[in-house]
Amino acid sequence: MKERRSLCVVKVGGSLLRDGRSYIESAENIKKTFVDADRLPIVVVSAAKGVTDLLIEVAKGSKKHLEAVTEKYLSIASEFSSPKLSRRVHEELEHLKRVANTISGSFDAALQDLIVSFGERISKILMVEALEHVNVRAVELNARELIITNNIHGDASIDYVATANNLEKIVKPILETSATPVIEGFIGATEDGAVTTLGRGGSDYTATAIASLLGIDDVYLVTEVDGIMTADPALIPSAKIIKVLSYREAMEAALHGAKRINPKAFEPLEKFYGSTVFIGSWRTFGTKIQRELPADLAGPKLVMHKTSGDIPYIAIIGEGVGNTKFLKMIIDIFYEKAFSILGIQSYYYRPSILVYVQKTEELKILRELHKSLFEGAKP
Ligand code: ASP
Ligand code: MG
Repeated sequence: MKERRSLCVVKVGGSLLRDGRSYIESAENIKKTFVDADRLPIVVVSAAKGVTDLLIEVAKGSKKHLEAVTEKYLSIASEFSSPKLSRRVHEELEHLKRVANTISGSFDAALQDLIVSFGERISKILMVEALEHVNVRAVELNARELIITNNIHGDASIDYVATANNLEKIVKPILETSATPVIEGFIGATEDGAVTTLGRGGSDYTATAIASLLGIDDVYLVTEVDGIMTADPALIPSAKIIKVLSYREAMEAALHGAKRINPKAFEPLEKFYGSTVFIGSWRTFGTKIQRELPADLAGPKLVMHKTSGDIPYIAIIGEGVGNTKFLKMIIDIFYEKAFSILGIQSYYYRPSILVYVQKTEELKILRELHKSLFEGAKP
């Protein structure tokens, strides 16, 4: 078997999977970045872009959305000019259609999970084909067989003991053959075999769970942006990539809605093996997330706002921001600029400060905080 250090887990995000060409591009990048560098990646695939949203509508009974999914995946498959692949994708879609035909009036979370799972199931088949196309020997894994979860449909948690057993039994022998295993992210099954999903963005959680349970050092979460930023660049054009974050900081950012991370993703890393997570694009993996931060990297890492709920709040995230000195500095900024504070929440043991603000001042505050925390402006 190859040495453990050469193994890694690589999750390809749905934002990168739009058409046949983009599956091939991802496969080429997996080859170039990992396989050719003598590393052995375990590839975790998301559904193609937009498909999960479409499938959620399918689960509500929409025939129109079922057609859209069918058209999308058949068209991607047709780009490979492989009758065998097209047939297989067609069969999966027929299966999906049969399941969708069983929808009755009332909402059924288990049925929704089963329907939504086809997004990743078909995407995996396409990725295996794309890898073979660029001469990477790939092997399909089945998440419904490997990733065991509780029965909280729509937001299931992984049963680490059962899953670790499966990985040991099923994946370890495959790794010895040096073929590249490919698995669906986001989906699993209960012990009784009911299909579950892990919550939106759950492919990250699949990737970190596999890495931590197999003791693999590096996890790459590949997306279309180069890393996690100090603020939403759509609002703050001067936002920069954050080079290093701790699990706690990343988890806190995810809890307050950072778009690209699922908060549960850090649980297995905290509990078991502390793999390093790299987030970025094929151009560059700009953000590294690790268990511990060196003391000199404590301090604020990003500012974000959350508009859900009645009162908007700004979250300032970073190890140590809950200390009295930092709190005072933040309050001073609000005071100097005459912004109102409608509420403030901070605990010394949490890497965040939440400041509840007036909707009308939200953006101004965000800009002001970004300027003084990350652009060296004096408050
Ligand atoms: N496809 C799922 C979603 O869109 C899971 C993922 O992309 O991680 O939420
Ligand atoms: Mg997705």
